[in-house]
Amino acid sequence: MQALAERLDEWLRGAQVESVEPLGFAALKTVVPSPDSLVGLAVQSVGRRAKYLVFTLDGGVRLIVHLSQAGRLDVESPPKRTRPKGAAVRVRFDGDRAMLVREHGTERKVAWWVLAEGDDGPLEGLGPEPDSPEFTDLIEHATDKRRVHTLLRDQRTVAGIGRGYADDALHAARISPYATLASLTGEQREALLGAIRATLADALEGERKRSGGLSEPKLGDRFVVHNRHGTPCPRCGETLRRVSYEAYEITYCPNCQTEGKVLADRRMSRLVK
Ligand SMILES: [Zn+2]
Repeated sequence: MQALAERLDEWLRGAQVESVEPLGFAALKTVVPSPDSLVGLAVQSVGRRAKYLVFTLDGGVRLIVHLSQAGRLDVESPPKRTRPKGAAVRVRFDGDRAMLVREHGTERKVAWWVLAEGDDGPLEGLGPEPDSPEFTDLIEHATDKRRVHTLLRDQRTVAGIGRGYADDALHAARISPYATLASLTGEQREALLGAIRATLADALEGERKRSGGLSEPKLGDRFVVHNRHGTPCPRCGETLRRVSYEAYEITYCPNCQTEGKVLADRRMSRLVK
């Protein structure tokens, strides 16, 4: 999202909205202000907060887009008139430009919001960004009793990491996904912080090599261990394993992260009982 926001900022800063065409019913999450109220406003900046794209327009009005897992964003120059399957909204700008937000597949829906100045909408309550001093302080000092994987995924604790990067960062730091933050030594906490920063920096570097919108599947194949269970650990060669936890699949290396221990699959043991 960060790299996409950077490209959109370069492409759209100063552009004036000519029209906003909702193309799907469910995706727009706000009623007031109306999408039409954006017409005539210029884009002051495009940024990212957590996994949201934030378009700030004149007067502090914001257009927020959440692409979720299956969302795509096409940039069109000149604008098209098509209405592809899964289309959510097309915003046309002056200079013969448009962006089309659409979704590919059905499971996770794209969403967008039009927010008046001062309304945070879905951004309200989001935790600090991973590169902020607040987050550093949390990892270094907090005695949070939650499991680290749960904590890293919780957008109210830290915004924008998600389960894929949580898997990769814990693997890089050699920490069990079932360890609680409170149980970590100072050394492990520093390793975790370093691993999170390195994981996110690598991902951003990869994404910055793209151009245009986001028409191809996101990331996916860039993860080091996430979703790679059954393949050898890139560090030690042990077979990576997965465990179901809180409706998520966590990938980990038993050799690097859990001292050889295979983590109990809670969902499976519940079914077996
Ligand atoms: Zn390993």
